[in-house]
Amino acid sequence: MQPGLLPEAEGRARRRVLLPLPLAGAYDYAVPAGEEPPPLGSFVVVPLGGRDMLGVVWDGEPDMALAESRLKEIRHVLPAPPMTPSLRRFVDWVAAYTLSAPGAVLRMTISSPSALEEAAEKAGWRLSALGLACRAALEAGQEPPEGAPRLTPARRSALLALPPGEILPGGAIADAAGISVGVLRGLADNGLVESALMPHRSPFIRPDPDHPGPIFGPDQQKAAEALCAAVAKREFGVTLLTGVTGSGKTEVYLDAVAECLRQGRQALVMLPEIALSAQWLGRFEARFGVRPALWHSELTSATRRATWRAVAAGEAPVLVGARSALFLPYPDLGLIIIDEEHETAFKQEEGVVYHARDMAVVRARFSQAACVLVSATPSLESRTNAETGRYAAVNLPSRHGAAGLPTVSLIDLRADPPEKGRFLSPVLIDEVSATIARGEQAMLFLNRRGYAPLTLCRTCGHRLRCPNCTSWLVEHRAQRRLQCHHCGHAEPIPKACPECGTEDSLAAVGPGVERVQEEAAILWPDARRLVMASDTLPGPGAAAEAARRIENREIDLIIGTQVVAKGWHFSHLTMVGVVDADLGLAGGDLRAAERTVQLLHQVAGRAGRAEAPGKVLLQSFCPDHPVMQALVAGDLDGFMVEEAAARRPGHWPPFGRLAALIVSAEDELAADRVARDLGLAAPSVEGVEVLGPAPAPLALLRGRHRRRLLLKARRDVPVQPVLREWLSRVQVPAHVKVQVDVDPVGFL
Ligand code: ADP
Ligand code: ZN
Repeated sequence: MQPGLLPEAEGRARRRVLLPLPLAGAYDYAVPAGEEPPPLGSFVVVPLGGRDMLGVVWDGEPDMALAESRLKEIRHVLPAPPMTPSLRRFVDWVAAYTLSAPGAVLRMTISSPSALEEAAEKAGWRLSALGLACRAALEAGQEPPEGAPRLTPARRSALLALPPGEILPGGAIADAAGISVGVLRGLADNGLVESALMPHRSPFIRPDPDHPGPIFGPDQQKAAEALCAAVAKREFGVTLLTGVTGSGKTEVYLDAVAECLRQGRQALVMLPEIALSAQWLGRFEARFGVRPALWHSELTSATRRATWRAVAAGEAPVLVGARSALFLPYPDLGLIIIDEEHETAFKQEEGVVYHARDMAVVRARFSQAACVLVSATPSLESRTNAETGRYAAVNLPSRHGAAGLPTVSLIDLRADPPEKGRFLSPVLIDEVSATIARGEQAMLFLNRRGYAPLTLCRTCGHRLRCPNCTSWLVEHRAQRRLQCHHCGHAEPIPKACPECGTEDSLAAVGPGVERVQEEAAILWPDARRLVMASDTLPGPGAAAEAARRIENREIDLIIGTQVVAKGWHFSHLTMVGVVDADLGLAGGDLRAAERTVQLLHQVAGRAGRAEAPGKVLLQSFCPDHPVMQALVAGDLDGFMVEEAAARRPGHWPPFGRLAALIVSAEDELAADRVARDLGLAAPSVEGVEVLGPAPAPLALLRGRHRRRLLLKARRDVPVQPVLREWLSRVQVPAHVKVQVDVDPVGFL
């Protein structure tokens, strides 16, 4: 028997409804007698525990054993297009893969609940027949027709601000005419204008695929053709697009977006940090003549609503967004692009823990869409998939135009140390001075916010720690505060050491960007300097303004954290100095070396993107490290081959699978107990190994004690069933949380 289609005699029809709550699955509801059962995917309102909840009619068989009398009824169906089968399957798939509740994943798709309601119909004004005649007369400089009411100057301006045939909101007319809305009401009373419903209009204009783009060189042409062919097939497939920084990858994949538009399907472009994408949006506009729709966490609720509805109606042909854009209701997605696919920002670490790059591939599969992963420094995961033929591969071998790749060299800090208490070596200082003297721009990169990462008492050796986390407090001198970069705890800088009480004995240890800026101010007092860090550039507007000033050559020296490493194209920037190239190597997690190579290569790639050649200097205490050698030789491929060789024998990703369990509780003993029980219940399955429990490197985070276990499995072992079985064998009290992280990226 088909679900929900029981004959009337056996009771009301039943439907399964998934609620956006962390529950085990969908609940059954009855369709009110005499009503048509809503189609699968319909957004409905149902009662739950005394209140009304939003839900989605879900796939699967209702439980016929449940007594008819116990079934509650669906209250009503919302006027939004039903969720597509491909999105429903995606929700189920993400939930199963990440071991999350399907309802928790569903919640990510209902990112604008108000968008599900009918848009409040807005009324505007249009000219009546009499109004039209009066307006025509005014325009021709003639007297108003016989019988027309008296036309004051305000009324005249109002009539002239309302073009024939258009319906405009009162506010818009009043603004354009410089009158009050009351004037319009007067015109209506006199029969010159009448109120009318505003036509529905999409807020997004369709980008024109045939708007002229750049003229491609032969390599770009070939790459663009390959991507367009993949899109035109209208079936699932993944392509890895690689090429050195500045080789024109963005221009090439925008061509694939154009092909997707020609196919009449929607395209999604995912960027790792949408707040820093001002330049990218300008590029898009230059290519297509209009701006794309945007999706990220800082949209106003009105924009969210309008965007969600436009996407669902197929009226946002191109959407550019952060991770959460994967869960929008595209009716016909034809292309997903993941720019900077190697970026860890694509991993969501809270709530439903998922990797947006990997889930994008799955979303593309369910939508019969092409997926393109883009990077100058692709992850070992994607490289391996390209090598084994799971992904197609397209490469752009050289920089566009006259630009060559920058030369990279090392400064051995043991041989050329900075002055005492300083952080820039004389070699680096000379290079920056020379660059500025030539009228070019230089950049100093240090991936650390604030003034100093550690504050220490010179008398007793005490170090200032966060009370809630296993971490040092970072001095932010500009704000005169100490901050924890993990939980946001902040306190004033104390005058005396909190341990021994000695006054003026606290010393800042090590540099952050603020401290480099202080040194730069002494070295280059006349240079126009700009600090770029996430806390000095709050929001997209500030980043865009910073980029504009750099492009306009209002800045000589940029001092920045990783926010300057990503995607920027500054034509006059010819020199990059990395203050501490060893920084990312500490801690020694699985991907520390890979990530350091990627980050520093990206930073280096900001130099010399136009005609003037670029130069990069890396300050390091271990210049012989393979990471430094690979950067100097520009041989990322060789480095990745070595990296693969090191990971393969131990079945480390991508040659094996990992899943982490993070146990946390305010009560340390409780965390320990659950971690120990999990350790004792560890699965004994062929090809599976469990490491831990052990205190997490961040053993205390936001006041919760944390323990980690790591499950390592051979690639051919499906880890989800193993994890499910494992978790089912351990009792976890309500105040202890066990978070599952499949394919972990961070190991803190
Ligand atoms: P990538 O994404 O590989 O870093 P971009 O697409 O940003 O490279 O290209 C680098 C610069 O070269 C950009 O300013 C871009 O507009 C320009 N560019 C790339 N290809 C062309 C082309 N065929 N004609 C003109 N300019 C181009
Ligand atoms: Zn903290």
